[in-house]
Amino acid sequence: MERVEAVVVGAGVVGLAVARRLALAGLEVVVLEKEGAIGTETSSRNSEVIHAGIYYPEGSLKASCCIAGKWWLYRYCEARGVPHRRCGKLIVATSEEQNATLDRIKANAQALGMPDLERWPAERARALEPALRCTGALWSPTTGIVDSHALMLAYRGDAEDHGAAIAFRAPLERARVVDGGLELEVGGVEPMRLRTRYLVNSAGLHAPALARRIEGLDPALVPRGWLCKGNYYTLSGRSPFSRLIYPVPEAAGLGVHVTIDLAGRCRFGPDVEWVEAIDYDVDPRRAERFYAEVRKYWPELPDGALEPGYAGIRPKLAPEGAPAADFLVQGPAEHGVAGLVNLLGIESPGLTASWPLAELVAAKLGLPPLAEKVAAL
Ligand SMILES: Cc1cc2nc3c(=O)[nH]c(=O)nc-3n(C[C@H](O)[C@H](O)[C@H](O)COP(=O)(O)OP(=O)(O)OC[C@H]3O[C@@H](n4cnc5c(N)ncnc54)[C@H](O)[C@@H]3O)c2cc1C
Repeated sequence: MERVEAVVVGAGVVGLAVARRLALAGLEVVVLEKEGAIGTETSSRNSEVIHAGIYYPEGSLKASCCIAGKWWLYRYCEARGVPHRRCGKLIVATSEEQNATLDRIKANAQALGMPDLERWPAERARALEPALRCTGALWSPTTGIVDSHALMLAYRGDAEDHGAAIAFRAPLERARVVDGGLELEVGGVEPMRLRTRYLVNSAGLHAPALARRIEGLDPALVPRGWLCKGNYYTLSGRSPFSRLIYPVPEAAGLGVHVTIDLAGRCRFGPDVEWVEAIDYDVDPRRAERFYAEVRKYWPELPDGALEPGYAGIRPKLAPEGAPAADFLVQGPAEHGVAGLVNLLGIESPGLTASWPLAELVAAKLGLPPLAEKVAAL
């Protein structure tokens, strides 16, 4: 049986950040990816926003990893030439009552240590974005956008430069806790058995199901996962906005917002659709609701301007109607299995938080912190 020091399951943005971190620590790393390329699931089906970390509860992993991750990401993108833009974001109230929500969001951000959010009257927001209609706004200067695929390529490049290898079409079928590590059964084009000291389950939507296939891990510690789809519609023609525009957040997402890409095109989404199975088709019948949502802050949206775009699926740890759950990163201290870390419920802001999540995995595995200049490359 082949032996490898560390195995990371999943070549999404988080798995690649973890592989990079473990390889930089000097470990021999193999990434197992069931598909034929990196980032084919949630990491390429999102809004590509570098979130400021405004909305999350104080003390949550989402808040701390997002706020720290944002600064790491800006530094890393600058150092590595990953396309990105600190374009800023407006959160807008579209009724008088929603202004109180903006005040609450600002107070939450302040409690999280972000004093830079500015409360603007509607006129000031309109001076910046003339197409916008609102009753008040919050300006977040540190929110930005990033080319998520270029970011994954940079993480992958660093990991491979430090000796990591990615095995494509290599699904991890199941694992078993053994003396001194874990034994893995890999399927796909070249089925094999592997022995590893460290296993990181970064399988995104599939992470809870995979954790349940690890013999020796108490299944009672693995929460159930739920799937919450987010559909996007694209705008044909030029974008009327050059910053991100967000309505006040809704129950399971941040509301149908305007995301701009680095080429200046714009898309609207994601909405909230709880589903039973993974399916990325965008139902054209959802258009009607998109027109209604977008026209709350852009009443001049012309008829026929929206086209079905793409969809992503949020890996939720709480069902519809329940309060949102935090990221769950379980290491040996939580489940008692040496060398194993499960990353569960890594929904938004997982892209922004990828760097601190990788640091947290390293810490849970007992690896020492990296010197800053090594960490930043
Ligand atoms: C609609 C939407 C919008 C979002 N917008 C943002 C945003 O603007 N900003 C932000 O910060 N975050 C955002 N997010 C969150 C962000 O996209 C995710 O947190 C992040 O991409 C998760 O990355 P991951 O590597 O954990 O998962 P994934 O990208 O899903 O990667 C998991 C990988 O594991 C592989 N895999 C699964 N099972 C196995 C197995 N058994 N063996 C081998 N491989 C396996 C899969 O093929 C996949 O490649 C958004 C998410 C959604 C759904």
